[in-house]
Amino acid sequence: MQLERAGDQEPKIKDPPYTPKSTRELARELTPMQFKVTQKEETEPAFRNEYWDNKKDGVYRCIVCGQALFSSDTKYKSGTGWPSFYDPIEKQKVGFKTDNYLFYTRIEVHCSRCNAHLGHVFDDGPRDKTGKRYCMNSAALKFEPKPASKADAPSTETEDGTTDTGEQSADEQAGSEQAEDDQTAGQSATVEDVAARRSSAPSQRVDF
Ligand SMILES: [Zn+2]
Repeated sequence: MQLERAGDQEPKIKDPPYTPKSTRELARELTPMQFKVTQKEETEPAFRNEYWDNKKDGVYRCIVCGQALFSSDTKYKSGTGWPSFYDPIEKQKVGFKTDNYLFYTRIEVHCSRCNAHLGHVFDDGPRDKTGKRYCMNSAALKFEPKPASKADAPSTETEDGTTDTGEQSADEQAGSEQAEDDQTAGQSATVEDVAARRSSAPSQRVDF
């Protein structure tokens, strides 16, 4: 895995890059059931699907684009035969639209990034949680088990020291830019930067 600098405090789950695909490409890459569910808004059979009874820890990603959608932390036993969650992993990861089914209106749930149909959300979820039941199709999801070693990794990673000092000096520079500019420029900036600043400083500021 790449080690990008985690500028944000929270270790957010990363999503792979996504390039929209044509219907033909999707039809080729997905199984018939995955295609029917995600692209035609069909529903897979209850119980005869991959994740309804999956109790492992991990993340459920969109089968089409890989965006993280649900966590095993919010999965619960609904008794419906479909994987059920009381909350998405982050609110903005899913989108909604109303959908008329037989004689009533349902709220359809889809991936906010690629629009893949995922399932529906109902109001009969756990009362002590959100009260919502995100009734998902296994065929729309790809389960990614939680890596065993990663649990205690974040704290040791920063002992390296490089990221800490890097962030601090960046903050300091931003905070007291004018005062420290002359003194610290030589330490933190490259020679080229300094040269560029010196040459442009007297007459005008150059903002990039
Ligand atoms: Zn997606």
